[in-house]
Parts: sequence; C-alpha cells; structure tokens
Amino acid sequence: MNCAICQCDDRHACLDVETGEPCHWASPGLCSVCARTVQAELLGLTEMPPANVELPAFELFCLVSAAQLAMRHPHFPASIAQSVYAVATRLQAQLPPTLQRFAAMGWDRTNDVPVGNASTQRGN
Ligand SMILES: [Zn+2]
Ligand SMILES: [Zn+2]
Repeated sequence: MNCAICQCDDRHACLDVETGEPCHWASPGLCSVCARTVQAELLGLTEMPPANVELPAFELFCLVSAAQLAMRHPHFPASIAQSVYAVATRLQAQLPPTLQRFAAMGWDRTNDVPVGNASTQRGN
C-alpha cells in the first residue's frame, strides 16, 4: 500500500518532522504526515480568498444535479451539507428561468421518480 498523496509505503516511510518518527497509516492509503497536512490545509481554507471559477453552463447544471444526488446519500456529512447547498443554489440561480425552476425541483424529494418507474403519461 502506498500513501495516495506522497506515495510513501511500508518500506519507505516519510519522516514526521513534528515527532521525528516515521509516518504510520492514518487510514488505508493515507499516511499520518499527509493526514495532518490535509487537516491543517482544510482548517486554512477559511483564510483563503474566494476561488473564482468560470464554468460552462452545462457543467454548472451537472454540478447542481450531482450535488443534489450526493446530498441524498444517507452518509453525506452534515458538516458540509449547508455549504454544498449554498454553492449549488447559487449556481442554480445562474441557469435560465425555466431550467432554474426545473433544477429547484431536485431539492424536493417529493419530485423523485423511482428509477424504472418514470412515466410520461399524464393522469387526468
Ligand atoms: Zn503521505
Ligand atoms: Zn508517509
């Protein structure tokens, strides 16, 4: 097993400069040195200037859809749900008006249609 970030492995551990010890596995595929760096950089994100990203409109729509799907996962972390929802709804507001309302339907689970049960018939 290699660390997915620094590529160290059981025979070539990296040195933890804080402890002077070789790294250990923080989780499968992530060594302790990289895990601590990830944690520090995550905490530092709040100090960074906002990122400016230019997205093709179709990719923007795809991101909103993907966020909606991801947030339905039972283990989606509550700690980031509010941020993901805030970003996705800001992106959604960039869509043309009808597509914007269509995308908004994706936040309401009562609009869900079970896969394989999609029907184009109108009841009346
Ligand atoms: Zn590593
Ligand atoms: Zn390491």
